[in-house]
Amino acid sequence: MSAARRPLIAGNWKMHKTGEEARAHVTQLAELIGRESPVADVAVCPPFTALEAAARAADGTPIAVLAQAVHEAEKGAHTGSVSAGMIAAAGAAGTLVGHSERRADGESDAQVAARVRAALDAGLDVIVCVGESLEQREAGQTDAWLAGQVRAALAQVDAGETGRLAVAYEPIWAIGTGRTATPEMAQDACAHVRRVAGERVDGDALRVLYGGSVSPANAAELLAQPDIDGALVGGASLDPESFAAIVHAA
Ligand code: PEP
Repeated sequence: MSAARRPLIAGNWKMHKTGEEARAHVTQLAELIGRESPVADVAVCPPFTALEAAARAADGTPIAVLAQAVHEAEKGAHTGSVSAGMIAAAGAAGTLVGHSERRADGESDAQVAARVRAALDAGLDVIVCVGESLEQREAGQTDAWLAGQVRAALAQVDAGETGRLAVAYEPIWAIGTGRTATPEMAQDACAHVRRVAGERVDGDALRVLYGGSVSPANAAELLAQPDIDGALVGGASLDPESFAAIVHAA
């Protein structure tokens, strides 16, 4: 495995936690994972309103703060949206793009590509999410669907930007359901994502994460797979102790 593929454990808080709750969470998490050289890169993704408080609390700790979404425009008439520059100014180091819950609300492949580009241009790191539905998996369409999403998401990225990117494979049927992909399924899909991403970026150096009901109980087995370089964690990231246990599993 490339040295660039140090494990990355990222917690997606979704629509949870105020600024004050984020500050308390990050402070506790920093104590739990230790301030010196944790075994993995660690990130939390608070809602926009808590980004600044989380970033302030994370200052001087190994915890990176990422947004959950970004708009591709620099500014303008986009009510309710936030630009990459605004996210960077709030102290965040990066952002998720293309989470399935955003795609379900209408975010298109073209928007995902434009948002990845806008985030990189603003100096943000990016975790871009891809994943198939249960119907697609049962119809044998998983590989083709993932290939399409990966090619679209990375269409405007250069190979030299590989280190600032991660791709999270998140089967939609495993998100928030308690139904985790088996380690073999997750490994196969992550290896496929890496191969396809390798058409555009340095596949050997790219971090590919698994997401979907990751918990302290299943993390070690998933993270032991050769093509799984970390985890994007939803529900189990809301409690600092369970999230820290996943970090330690890495
Ligand atoms: C997610 O939201 O990206 C996610 C993987 O959620 P959960 O861990 O709750 O399935």
